[in-house]
Amino acid sequence: MKQQIKFCKKCLYSEFHPLGITFDKNGICSGCQIHEEKNNIDWGDKYEKLKSIVNKYKNRNKTNYDCIVPITGSGDSYFILYIVKKLGLNPLLVTYNKYFNTEIGIKNLSNLRIKFDCDIVYQNINPISVKKITKYTFSEFGNIYWPILAGQTVFPVQMAIKYKIPLIIWGAHQGIEQVGMFSYHHEVEMTRRYRHDHDLFGYEDNQLINLSNDLNDSDLWQYKYPSDEEISKNGIRGIYLNNYIRWDPLMQHLEMVNKFDYLSTNFARTFDTFDYSDCFNYMNLHDYLKLCKHGYSKVTDHASREIRFKRLSRDQAIYLVKQYELVPPLHVDLFAKWAGMKPKGVDFIINQHRNKSFWRERDVNDWIFKGLSSKLKIEKNVKKNDIVNFKHFFLKTFNEKNEKKYITFGKGFDN
Ligand SMILES: [Zn+2]
Repeated sequence: MKQQIKFCKKCLYSEFHPLGITFDKNGICSGCQIHEEKNNIDWGDKYEKLKSIVNKYKNRNKTNYDCIVPITGSGDSYFILYIVKKLGLNPLLVTYNKYFNTEIGIKNLSNLRIKFDCDIVYQNINPISVKKITKYTFSEFGNIYWPILAGQTVFPVQMAIKYKIPLIIWGAHQGIEQVGMFSYHHEVEMTRRYRHDHDLFGYEDNQLINLSNDLNDSDLWQYKYPSDEEISKNGIRGIYLNNYIRWDPLMQHLEMVNKFDYLSTNFARTFDTFDYSDCFNYMNLHDYLKLCKHGYSKVTDHASREIRFKRLSRDQAIYLVKQYELVPPLHVDLFAKWAGMKPKGVDFIINQHRNKSFWRERDVNDWIFKGLSSKLKIEKNVKKNDIVNFKHFFLKTFNEKNEKKYITFGKGFDN
């Protein structure tokens, strides 16, 4: 790794952000620049614009739903639905069964359907194919989330076509929130391109079939994005609420906890208690693989977000990142069991995906981290009390003892 890595002067992102990032002449990253728009936009006007967009899709004779809302058992699902209902829409909820479900995630899903009084469609792809694909993308790309991201981004579009409900309402566009890929003024909508480049890191279903001897059409056809012709014939569009509402995940989550009993959880690898609480692996094995490959992990995303909202100083953020990012992932044994692998086999694959720019092998299987945060220095003393108070902010936490077992639903299998 070259000696001088360019970091944003404000947040903790570097020039190596996988979504792509640019810096202005003052060394401020594109994500921080676009974040500033949040403080200058007239969000009242934007909300009126949102109302006028969705009004066109209201089903006046009540014989169909007004829109599709993709949801999970965590993240922004409650807040999206809260807004959708406030807009007077009757949504059809769709959710993709990721198989790594936690008890909290399933409880959140069922509570949400009751609190918001909604119909829901679940997609349960057969577990044999899901395991095959997961094992393949894990071993080839160090990614256990391909089927989940592919499923979550394609199933809503398929349902929109099948049920003839042209409007899909998503929460935040990650490219805007993290790296300022677009201005909020552009009001970008869902595209096949963004899914391909970022959600699927450049690999569509047919490319996996071509690359792997083991995977075929019967495993992957459900992950195929509808054709442009089908999308335009049905007038399908997907809008992002963060273009119309000042997006602040922490404040939104706290509001949802208070209003609708939304449940969160403690994580080993970050201070945030809301993101991906529905999954055993996202904040663990998946996040650790991100650290192996990209030299930073989710806690850097959370810390950078909190710097931008001025709830953390840069030094406090660096302190928190260093505290969390090297914590070993939990539940790897559970993943190994589910995938039919030996824990040592999982470790072997993890080690194969350590980027040598960010890791040094001191001895056989003894790795030293020299990733991005190792170049960040804390300038001023960080007060422990401030950190404790800050973390306490997130701990509106559901403390029930979670059984350590993937909670399955849908058809048959208990694994
Ligand atoms: Zn920045």
